Amino acid sequence: MRQPLVVGNWKMHGNAGAIRSLMAELIEAEDSFSGAEVGVCPPFVFLPMVTELCAASSIRVGAQNVSQHDSGAFTGEVSGAMLAELGVTYVLVGHSERRDLFAESNETVAEKFLAAQAQGLTPILCVGETLQQRERGETEKTVLAQLNTVLAAAGTVAFASSVLAYEPVWAIGTGETASPEEAQQVHQLLREHISSEDSVVAEAQRILYGGSVKDTNARALFSQPDIDGGLVGGASLEAGQFAAICASMEI
Ligand code: PEP
Repeated sequence: MRQPLVVGNWKMHGNAGAIRSLMAELIEAEDSFSGAEVGVCPPFVFLPMVTELCAASSIRVGAQNVSQHDSGAFTGEVSGAMLAELGVTYVLVGHSERRDLFAESNETVAEKFLAAQAQGLTPILCVGETLQQRERGETEKTVLAQLNTVLAAAGTVAFASSVLAYEPVWAIGTGETASPEEAQQVHQLLREHISSEDSVVAEAQRILYGGSVKDTNARALFSQPDIDGGLVGGASLEAGQFAAICASMEI
């Protein structure tokens, strides 16, 4: 049985005061999370503060990015070892904003996946098609190419200690959501693809849906058989809304 997971991606939002209040409210709501594991991904500079605030709670902390390099002259970058030292659990890799705005290729994403795992961090590998790719009927081809590059670099067994997130790019921050059936179709495709290599890994693989998840659509999405939780952007910045999403899992 896969433990559901809901992860908030705060992107480049927040300040110390707002984050303290948000975390206080979330920690207060922890008992309502219905057994779902919950994580938050603050901007790098707030990681020490948030890991400390979460120390006595079950809420996990994730980073939004990691360098593919171990150390060296890489101004502005943060290594997996640095994140591990802070007590970080998860790292987003391959988020569409990193792919699009920072030109991260499938190969770079695979390197980041490996760099995270080398430090005992759990990568959350994001895959998803753009609107143009969807309209051209290339959803399957796109997400499988993104997945296959990492599978080839890391091997299927490495996926046992990773999380996958299907995030259709056209649904991120737009208010548009894939219908539960549309999302389920892609989640099933991803699981079947992994299963063709290793059915045990596929059965245990947590696959999150991301793209305008809100308290009003979370339950319908999370009730699909291959959707194991959510990766939540905008709605994770409001404690009440995010707590309601986390409480939407039926276990
Ligand atoms: C995201 O950034 O991963 C995301 C899913 O954002 P939003 O929920 O705002 O669409």
